[in-house]
Amino acid sequence: MLRRLLSPPRLPGARSFFSLARLLSRPRLATILLLALLAALLEVLVHTGEFAVSRPGGELDEPFHIGCREPAAAARRESAALVMLVRNSELAGALKTVQSVERHFNRWFHYPVVFLNDEPWEPEFVEAMDAAVSGEAVFEVIPRDEWTFPSWMDEDAARESIRRQGERSILYAGRETYHHMCRFYSGKFYTLEALKKYKWYWRIEPDVDFHCSITYDPFVEMAKHDKVYGFTIALWEVPSTCPGLFREVADWKERHRIKTTELWKATMTPSWLPWPFRSMMSRARHRDRYGDGWSLCHYWSNFEIGSLDFFRGRGYQDLFEHLDKTGGFYFERWGDAAVHALALAMLVEPERIHHFEDFGYRHDWYFQCPANAPGRQLPESEALGDFPFAPEQEGGIGCRCGCDGRKTRNHASYCLNTLKSPNTARRPSFLGWCRSWFD
Ligand code: GDP
Ligand code: MN
Repeated sequence: MLRRLLSPPRLPGARSFFSLARLLSRPRLATILLLALLAALLEVLVHTGEFAVSRPGGELDEPFHIGCREPAAAARRESAALVMLVRNSELAGALKTVQSVERHFNRWFHYPVVFLNDEPWEPEFVEAMDAAVSGEAVFEVIPRDEWTFPSWMDEDAARESIRRQGERSILYAGRETYHHMCRFYSGKFYTLEALKKYKWYWRIEPDVDFHCSITYDPFVEMAKHDKVYGFTIALWEVPSTCPGLFREVADWKERHRIKTTELWKATMTPSWLPWPFRSMMSRARHRDRYGDGWSLCHYWSNFEIGSLDFFRGRGYQDLFEHLDKTGGFYFERWGDAAVHALALAMLVEPERIHHFEDFGYRHDWYFQCPANAPGRQLPESEALGDFPFAPEQEGGIGCRCGCDGRKTRNHASYCLNTLKSPNTARRPSFLGWCRSWFD
């Protein structure tokens, strides 16, 4: 009995471990296994190396201006509008946003603000905004068929799916109107009759804050620098909202033989599994047919300044039409931010994306707020007025920001860096490191 207690326990894996050890003790087999392991490792290194992004000669995306300038009141304007989708019931929040954007920007530039609604406007809303906007205030009602389920869709099935998504607590997915909103902002928004005459839009939302003065014209700068899209905050998408989205976009890219951009590579997380195990993962969420993944990083679309020509162009609209036909805006809860970001990653190179890091901006509990640029606050400027602002700081880039740049909920880490400046943020791969020896 005692001997039995003292003898080592017979674990189920122990026998197979010993037989493996016995196999490995045969020198030829051990060599073959070692070689296979090395080959797999090399294969993985070559594979992940394919996602390394080449380094540019210089900075791709500097701020358009550092600190304040005297607002150029008489300068040429772009064909552009600020745009807000909003409900009548959100009057207070909408007014707060408009007052903030007027105080920090539009009182010098007087761009029109286009208000969009899926319902008729209430006179009280129109009156309040007419008084608050220094440019023209335009009130549009979205055509009915652009704010509903696609005509071919079984609405009962879609509603049932929305109900189940709500039960599973997927963020906002239990609200039918939220799905309409995401679909609208992903596609139909860009082809609205009301926006036909503009080349640029700046999206704003109720209840956001701007914290810095914007004393230059961002539309003019976007055009001058050949940008297509500008953002303030980048973060991760909630994975359960869009399990099938990335695969659809990746398959579309493959089918149309779209050349892989540096931005696409930077938005991916390559698989570390060796072939053929890698492709076995291709059925998992957020993976392409080869088993490589999407990082889930995207630009937060409640603020965006973008080129309407790009988004109403064939490249983007064909992709949207395809995504719409899959039903994913309803049977999943695809967000417009993720759709925009994936399309941009697929269709443009990184230098055409601009991070407005000099803008102070808050939406919900995320914000970015730069420090003020030393010696560039134009304290004597009559146009800028005498609102109080935070102290200047070494390295600051902002103009009269109300915050000191130390507190930020923007993800300054991997996600923002990857999307902002993929070329410098890429984690160096082993292969890249090897290559650098020969450069
Ligand atoms: P979140 O930022 O993702 O939390 O989404 P929001 O609830 O802020 O909605 C995004 C934008 O769409 C905001 O500007 C809302 O005012 C607007 N919006 C959302 N749902 C509706 C709707 O049913 N009707 C209208 N007119 N606007 C909506
Ligand atoms: Mn919002």
